[in-house]
Amino acid sequence: MGLTRGSTGLGAVDAGLMIQRLAESDRVFALAGNPNVGKSTVFNALTGMNQHTGNWPGKTVATAQGRCVRQGRGIVFVDLPGTYSLLAHSAEEEAARDFLCFGDGDGAVVVCDATCLERNLNLVLQVLEITPRTVVCVNLLDEAARKGIRVDLEELERCLGVPVAGASARSGRGLEGLLCRLEQMAASPAPGRPLRVVYPQVIEDGVSLLVPALRPVVGNRLNLRWLALRLLEGDESLSRALSTYLGEDILQRPAVAEALAAAKDLLAQRGWGQRELEEAMVGAIVATAESVASRVVCAPEQGPSEADWRLDRVFTSRRTGIPVMLLLLALVFWLTITGANYPSQLLSAGLFALGDRLAQGLTALGCPGWLLSPLMDGAYRVLAWVVAVMLPPMAIFFPLFTLLEDFGYLPRVAFNLDRCFKCARACGKQSLTMMMGFGCNAAGVVGCRIIDSPRERLIAIITNSFVPCNGRFPTLILIITVFFIGGEEGLWPSVLSALGLTGVILLGVGATLLVSRILSATILRGMPSAFALELPPYRRPQIGQVLVRSVLDRTLFVLGRAAAVAAPAGLLIWVMANVTLGETTLLRHCAALLDPFARLLGMDGVILLAFILGFPANEIVMPIIIMAYLSAGSLMELESTAQIHALLVQNGWTWATAGSVILFSLMHWPCSTTCLTIRKETGSWKWTAVSFLVPTLAGMALCFLFTAAVHLLGLV
Ligand code: GDP
Repeated sequence: MGLTRGSTGLGAVDAGLMIQRLAESDRVFALAGNPNVGKSTVFNALTGMNQHTGNWPGKTVATAQGRCVRQGRGIVFVDLPGTYSLLAHSAEEEAARDFLCFGDGDGAVVVCDATCLERNLNLVLQVLEITPRTVVCVNLLDEAARKGIRVDLEELERCLGVPVAGASARSGRGLEGLLCRLEQMAASPAPGRPLRVVYPQVIEDGVSLLVPALRPVVGNRLNLRWLALRLLEGDESLSRALSTYLGEDILQRPAVAEALAAAKDLLAQRGWGQRELEEAMVGAIVATAESVASRVVCAPEQGPSEADWRLDRVFTSRRTGIPVMLLLLALVFWLTITGANYPSQLLSAGLFALGDRLAQGLTALGCPGWLLSPLMDGAYRVLAWVVAVMLPPMAIFFPLFTLLEDFGYLPRVAFNLDRCFKCARACGKQSLTMMMGFGCNAAGVVGCRIIDSPRERLIAIITNSFVPCNGRFPTLILIITVFFIGGEEGLWPSVLSALGLTGVILLGVGATLLVSRILSATILRGMPSAFALELPPYRRPQIGQVLVRSVLDRTLFVLGRAAAVAAPAGLLIWVMANVTLGETTLLRHCAALLDPFARLLGMDGVILLAFILGFPANEIVMPIIIMAYLSAGSLMELESTAQIHALLVQNGWTWATAGSVILFSLMHWPCSTTCLTIRKETGSWKWTAVSFLVPTLAGMALCFLFTAAVHLLGLV
């Protein structure tokens, strides 16, 4: 193919219009498309990157850039958020439109879904209005063929007047053709003459009045016809963007203002109000798309596939939707818990044995004791523990979750939970951002961009940390197995652990709904907005690729984070556990200080201190607790759950302490990365503080009530 992939991992960026060219000669193309048409799959296949793909609309919310080299020349691709139109009613549409208008690229690729080309053509026509330097990529041809849909690509190219390339991006078919068409387009000095949407005469007259006034001001920086249409439409978000990117408010120019007033007068004289104008514009685009599709698509007369319909009857019906969802959740947890047990033990034994060897090696090299101990007993052991306990469950949970995502199940969950979120006066899409939070709350917070209403987006951000992220899952699993199942192995204990974990997650979801409702009635008052969520077709997940990719991605992520946070934290804890002030260690002093308050919450000072020190990453909470309890001041190898259980009980833990730790782990402050992400997404320290305080206060209140109830009822 003559293509070097991912030669530079430019990484996912959200840098607006900052194009990261590595060489002057790099060509830059934007990838646009409706949600869920395989845009990120095309992007990943071309650039060798790992932009999030999944079978649901709305997952790409930030622009990402990647580069490949073809025949010695670099090509930068910018993956824009998926949008149905460019009329900029949402943040994604605005981002996509701004890049196409002002992004200084060499052209655009509009990725389309061959199974519903007509709808996709609406976006194609809008992009063609902005830039004629466009290649249309008709993707998902394999799925279309399976459904008996044929697309005449040559006729489509003739109709649209721009290059068209067919593809099945998942298997990489057609991508070389796409690159060729892009190369040809970029090399040709004259842009093509794309199909133009013809609007009702009065609109065309308005455009004719505006274009001559715009030409001296805007020059060839923007397509004047498109700009005139948007000004007529009174697109406010565009006015803002024009000021930002053109450096002036062109509406302040007398000639433009006069021409716009004249065009609006003309429309008013002929009885055209704002609504008629907007409807006519959309109507003209839709009619043109319909006419093109009727010439190029040959599809059998049929509704949604029979198999999809049957699956939806199980997954989304009122009676079975939620029970099946809970069953699937419990099944995923069960597979995670049972599957992680043995590898965890192996890893633990292996890493601790390796640690002993390393220590021997360092001693042989003459490493002094004062350095060896903090390094090996502190940094290395916490790191080893985090890797051994965290990695296996994550390496099982994430591929399973990704398989469900690829299959198309996530939007069905959103559909099932929509009513609950409506009752909480929040947006149904919040369930999608909540599910992203399972992976990482910071990712969940960024994902909240799919929610259009600022009020509902804030609610989703504030409540995102009520679902446990990958740093907290293993802690929950560990405590549930150690304390409530007694660390026994076998089918029943693992089923019970899975059910226990499902219960904890449901509690988190319940808290999300309750807090959302309270926020909607207080500081974020308002009614839920309506939204349309498309249920995508069920697709057979790419098992091999999902497994390899999510195991590798997650493994690297967890390892990277463990190295960055767990090792330094281990060092700090070792110092705190070994440096004494008077008779007692620093760690004990701090714990003693926190102890009275922690007791009110059913915990002890050490546990609360561990949560505080775990602010950079939740993964390190359990290792800190264990290290603090071990009188040696360093983390020992705790091979079996029975040993951990014994250690915790020695330090005064009862089932009620375990309960409080589970509750507090589920509900406390978001980790530092999430807090910084919230600050970035909301642009406000106030909302960051609210997002910090709400789960913290909720967790404290719950722990307090739980402990009080346990004591009042004399249960411990
Ligand atoms: P995006 O929202 O447009 O970025 O879409 P994604 O790249 O995330 O793809 C959406 C879903 O379609 C994923 O499940 C992909 O695996 C699947 N997909 C993408 N391209 C193809 C293709 O050519 N054929 C088939 N059968 N599935 C595809």
